[in-house]
Order: sequence, then C-alpha cells, then structure tokens
Amino acid sequence: MTAQCIDGEATAAAVHQEIKDEVEELKSKHGITPGLATVLVGENPASQAYVRSKQKRCGEVGIESFGHHLSEDATQEQVEEMVATLNADSAVHGILVQLPLPKHLDEERVLRAVGLDKDVDGFHPVNIGRLAMKGRKPLFVPCTPAGCIELLDRYGIDIEGKEAVILGRSNIVGLPVSMLLLHRNATITICHSRTPDLPATCRRADILIAAVGRPEMVKGDWVKPGAAVIDVGINRVWVDHPADKTLTCAATGETFVAHRKDESEKGGRRKMGVVCTEDDKAYLKDHVPEDVGDTMALYRKYKLVGDVDFEEVNQVAGYLTPVPGGVGPMTIIMLLRNTLTSAKRAAGLID
Ligand code: NAP
Repeated sequence: MTAQCIDGEATAAAVHQEIKDEVEELKSKHGITPGLATVLVGENPASQAYVRSKQKRCGEVGIESFGHHLSEDATQEQVEEMVATLNADSAVHGILVQLPLPKHLDEERVLRAVGLDKDVDGFHPVNIGRLAMKGRKPLFVPCTPAGCIELLDRYGIDIEGKEAVILGRSNIVGLPVSMLLLHRNATITICHSRTPDLPATCRRADILIAAVGRPEMVKGDWVKPGAAVIDVGINRVWVDHPADKTLTCAATGETFVAHRKDESEKGGRRKMGVVCTEDDKAYLKDHVPEDVGDTMALYRKYKLVGDVDFEEVNQVAGYLTPVPGGVGPMTIIMLLRNTLTSAKRAAGLID
C-alpha cells in the first residue's frame, strides 16, 4: 500500500476560501480591509516574482497590497526609514521585507526594525523568542512551519505524545517547526549536518519533517512504516534532454550542459515547470563560447524534487507530502492568514 498523499494544493485552496470569507466579513461588519506592504530592494528577478505572486494572492482574498520598491543601491537608512513609515501606517497590518537583501545591507537590523505587531513573517527575534519559551505566545508564527502544522492538523494526524524528528535546524524552517511540535506535546529530535546515523534517528519518527535542501536524501529505509512525512525541501535537479549538449566556457574551460530551445518546446516545457531562470540566462551569457550563437536561446531542463525520495518513501510512510504541491502552496497562504490575524488584532477583535 502506498502512503496517503497530503495534498498541499487542495488544503491551501480550502484555507484560501476561509481567509477570503473572513476578509469579506471584516470589511462588511467592521469596515476594515487588511493590508500587506511588501518591501523589495534591488532587481533580483526571483524576489520580484515572489513579491508579484504575494501581491496577486492578496488581491484574490481581498487583502490590499502596498508594493514598495527601492533601488539596488538603497542605503540601510533608506530601507529602515521605509519600514518605519510602514510601521506608522494604520492601513498596513503586515510588512514583508523580501529576502535576500543586497549584500551591503544588514538584514538582521532591517528585520528588527519591523514592528512586532506587523511582523507577519514571524522572523522578529522577539516573536522567535516567544515561540521558543514555554507559556509564551508569539504574535505571528513563521509561515512555512505554520503550513507544516496546518497540513498535519487538516489530515487528522495526532501530534501529542508522538515522536517527531526534524531534519534541519534553520531559523526559517527546522527550528520554528520543532518549537511548534514541542508546544503541541510531541517529543522532538532535531537533526543537522553533524548528527550521526541519520537513518536510525529518522526511523524513530512518527512524524518526520525534512528541511535540509538535499535532493531525495531521505530513503525508504529511513522511515518507520506508517509515519507521517512532511517534505519541505524544494530542490532543482537537472533532467537530461535529447538535445542536451556539453559546452565549454571559452574563458575558463568550465563545461556546462544546455541546448538550443526549440520554439515548439515552449508551452509544454513551461507547463512542466521547466524554465530557464534569469540566473541561468546571465550564466549562459557570461560563459557561452563565441560560436554558439544566441545565448538566450540555450536552455536546460530541470525538475523540482524534495528532500525525500518520493518513490521509495511512498511505499513505507502512512502520509506523505509531494513536491511540488505539498508544503510549498501552504507558505503563502499562511502569510495571508497572518495578515488577516494582524488586522483583527489591530481592531481589537482578538488578543
Ligand atoms: P538551510 O538554511 O540551508 O538549512 C539546512 C539545514 O539542514 C541545516 O540545519 C543543515 O545543518 C541541515 N543539513 C544540510 N545538509 C545536511 C545533511 N547532509 N545531513 C543532515 N543535515 C543537513 O535550509 P532551509 O532554508 O531550512 O531550507 C531547507 C529546504 O526547504 C530547502 O530545500 C528549501 O528550498 C526548502 N524551503 C521550502 C519552503 C517552502 O515553502 N516549501 C520554505 C523554505 C525553505 P547545519 O545546521 O549543521 O548546517
């Protein structure tokens, strides 16, 4: 028997509808429109795409979005001033500073400048501190960890009294998700790059959360039969394409694999999630040898995989999230929910 699929898309759609209904009620009964401000610094194409998608999702549930874009060379003071202005703006209930910031900026200082009551990303040190302490409640919980717990809850997976193993101890996923599971009375083990014998440790888990950023690292024999496995990892791995060709960088001798994109490939490839990112394009532009021609027409096919070997673990686990379509869709939804929570709190409707 294979594992029950924990469908992140369907769960996210259900939560999306709940948020939309609540936003409508907040508007009609209390005249309040939740607002999310995004602060983007620089021209990183991936960050621009993330911000656009967050703004689009806000619009879909009736949350107003305020986009702010500062230039790549913005100073620390300018970014902090922007955050201070948004802190003081009563139409803004959440502030999202899109990371990473350009290297010359002190990310930690910027995140600390975000008002605690508008920290919808949940990364303010005070919110993280409260999350770590018994009997304290953070105002906001970081979105990806919150999404993991939401998936467990919505699939009726008991947490209390269970053995939970978390692979990864990052500030954005591993650590906060561990704290959330601890608060829900799981017994937790947090693993990292220095943990000996990961397979044996993972095999103890009733709930296994993988957040390491290593493609398909968790194998079938790492998993206790019937366990619930949440795969947070999003990793890009190259897929061979019949037209792939190894090219050599004229300047460095470095080799890479790519092929000229055929016009007919366009729709299908994108549909399959196969795109050439701006980073790839820049790389190709810099590296491609003279005789290859239009460098922008060179592509390499890739797919997204998680930290869990889906095929193997699917044969052993009781529940399993796919990648893509598992934790990923939940993250943005949790951001919208945090923004709604913030608006309700600002109006005195909740603590
Ligand atoms: P990260 O900051 O790089 O942290 C990775 C963690 O995994 C670290 O604690 C590291 O240990 C540990 N680790 C790395 N290699 C290991 C190994 N071979 N054995 C054991 N532990 C190992 O990554 P992250 O930001 O938490 O992200 C993890 C994954 O989740 C990535 O694939 C990322 O793309 C994905 N992600 C997905 C979402 C989503 O919305 N679905 C959101 C955020 C992240 P040390 O601490 O010892 O270095």
